[in-house]
Amino acid sequence: MSDNATKPVKYPTIHMQAGRQRRVLHGHPWVYSNEVQMDATAKAVPAGSPVRLVDAGGTPLGIFTFNPHTLIAARLLSTDPATVVDHEFITARLRRAVALRDRLFDRPFYRVVHAEADGLPGLIVDRFGDVVTVQANSVFMDRRTDAILAAIDEVLAPRAVILRNDGTQRALEGLSEETALAKGEIDGPIRLEENGVTFFANPLDGQKTGWFYDQRDNRAFIAALATGGRAIDFYSYNGGFGVQCAVAGATSVVAVDRSALALENATRAAEANGVADRFEARRADAFQEMERLNAAGETFQVVVADPPAFVKAKKDLAVGCRAYRKMARLAAKITAPGGFLLCGSCSHNVDPPTFAEQVARGLTDAGRTGRILRSAGAGPDHPVHPNLPESAYLKAIVLQLD
Ligand code: SAH
Repeated sequence: MSDNATKPVKYPTIHMQAGRQRRVLHGHPWVYSNEVQMDATAKAVPAGSPVRLVDAGGTPLGIFTFNPHTLIAARLLSTDPATVVDHEFITARLRRAVALRDRLFDRPFYRVVHAEADGLPGLIVDRFGDVVTVQANSVFMDRRTDAILAAIDEVLAPRAVILRNDGTQRALEGLSEETALAKGEIDGPIRLEENGVTFFANPLDGQKTGWFYDQRDNRAFIAALATGGRAIDFYSYNGGFGVQCAVAGATSVVAVDRSALALENATRAAEANGVADRFEARRADAFQEMERLNAAGETFQVVVADPPAFVKAKKDLAVGCRAYRKMARLAAKITAPGGFLLCGSCSHNVDPPTFAEQVARGLTDAGRTGRILRSAGAGPDHPVHPNLPESAYLKAIVLQLD
């Protein structure tokens, strides 16, 4: 819109330090601040500008977003140095992302844009039918909010758009947190579907984006194992796992969460899907409730424990790992012999082998044996950039216990 494709665009040139270009040449989409020549010219580039990145010898590496004030100084937009970063560029990337989701899903309920993996670094967009939420996690995306909203209008024509600018990554980019309605009106929780089941979320005041579509396939897998038995869903949030277990034919389901609003949404979902008679929302601390149930000798055919991130920063790794191990131990103790346990983790600081090790130790601590049926990540609407494997933050391990 502001850029004009017919006029030659000259972006500032940023030079990498000698010998630092290898990772980028191998396809990694980030450049760290200590890898570029942070001279007066570079420092003067306004945060969020597109730049031409060249190696120390002057060979072009592509067009990147640039922020001289943060650790990830440059993020790849295009390896083609002639790329113009305008409204059409954003719209084309959005169209490509939507086309992929439309191939993957029958219904308009999914993550539309998953940042780097969709060629829009720092941008998250979720779709709830005709309501869309947008999260800009980089200065580049934040500055282009108007262009992003225009592209979303053009491609998705939503009734309402919510800016969910409350991610922790924003602080690293020097951005403040805010949640605001950018278009339309929202009264009450919004409705969404997942695996044919109806749910409710509050993206205006709920947590993160209002719904975690990332567990879609893992929910379908565990729900199918709950038929004919009792299930319990710890850290249930809006009832994603628990209500799907009930719909799949669990004889009873308990959703445990400490948030009253989350449990309200879960209960509403149980009602909307006609399983309220087999569904109980229980407000409690997860570990305390696991211990209480164990002391009472209760067991369940399906136990789900998919908590918030226990490791929010690298320095918390040891403490967080102990918490995952404890969670696996307590959850295993209330899993019936022959029953199924799902342990989840959304901590990007905990890699899959480390998480699997905590779960395995927890089982042993509980005196249980079993077998892993599924080790999975997020569904395909949360694609992973091939050179950014650390963006594969989600882990879900499903076991059968003896
Ligand atoms: N399993 C959920 C996602 C979990 S989000 C899903 O499938 O969508 C984390 C949830 O854990 C939030 O709803 C939060 O309220 C809840 N929570 C955080 N700490 C808790 C605790 N100590 N006990 C119970 N619930 C907790």
